[in-house]
Amino acid sequence: MSLPAINQDYLVDFLVKLLNIPSPTGFAEPAIAFVEQELSQFSQLQLTRTRKGALIAKWEVESDLPPVALTAHVDTLGAVVKEIKSNGRLRLSRIGGVEWPTVETEGVWIFASNGENIRGSILVDTASGHIYGQDMKQTPRDDDHMEVRLDARTLSKEETRALGIRIGDCAAFDPRVEVTNGFIRSRHLDDKACVANIVSAIKSLADAGQSPSRTVYFHISNYEEVGHGASSGIPPEVAELLTVDMAVVGHGQESDEFNVTLCIKDAGGVYHEGFNKKLRALAEQHAVPYKTDVYRYYASDGEAFWRAGGDVAVALIGPGIDASHNYERTHVDGLVATTNWIMAYLLG
Ligand SMILES: [Zn+2]
Repeated sequence: MSLPAINQDYLVDFLVKLLNIPSPTGFAEPAIAFVEQELSQFSQLQLTRTRKGALIAKWEVESDLPPVALTAHVDTLGAVVKEIKSNGRLRLSRIGGVEWPTVETEGVWIFASNGENIRGSILVDTASGHIYGQDMKQTPRDDDHMEVRLDARTLSKEETRALGIRIGDCAAFDPRVEVTNGFIRSRHLDDKACVANIVSAIKSLADAGQSPSRTVYFHISNYEEVGHGASSGIPPEVAELLTVDMAVVGHGQESDEFNVTLCIKDAGGVYHEGFNKKLRALAEQHAVPYKTDVYRYYASDGEAFWRAGGDVAVALIGPGIDASHNYERTHVDGLVATTNWIMAYLLG
């Protein structure tokens, strides 16, 4: 059986829209709601939420085979307001593995608790070259020396408070999405690219009038970047959990932006050998271009479920993302390969 056709314009368009919705961990509800709205067009799916706020889409199928699950996350790196400084600027507390040099000079939105959105940018506190000269290079890029300069008239703590900003308010970095020659360049392709892969796989099957070979739960996670996204929300009758998350591209890695990768091992350990074998056989059968790889500083929502006591086989696949947790990039070929592998698994 050949795989259904993928509408690549739809895939990229959906991804760009999702990338442009700010969703740092803890503040991911707008992105969850957007995915929920998109999936509501498929009458095959029953949509529910966990108490934690994750989205579950169940595609029920008459089958003797036990159900399976797929997970991908919409939450991203970000920050919260830690302190309002005496000069009216903000100190931030980072969410997930953000490193300050990767966001220096980036634009930010501060989502104030009174409902106002306040624009700003992230700078080192010795930013002016005409004041600090060469010394600027010596300033550590750390929590104490990076600040948010607000595009609002404030020179004091009181004036910033008057804008409505409070400690704990969300700060979201601009994704800066660009699509050129099939490349998609943006922050937070981790893991919005893979959410787009899952949605595109569902759409491709639905449009072709095809169904999975067994009941499937699609788990759209909202707490992955802090390590416990899929620790709950996967039903106990599920036999396999396919985690769909980015592959690491860069020096020493086998992965690239034009293929999908099967991760054999990451910092959290080794994935399920039997499940890996099954996925590799499906990739061979459907000519899905894939690599295998090992990731150094990486853990996944599949492992989060394992650590929470989940008794399932877990595997991890995803498109290659260059410069991950930085200004990321991937290519539509990697996205298509990933979507095809997901469909091969669902139909297999
Ligand atoms: Zn991720």
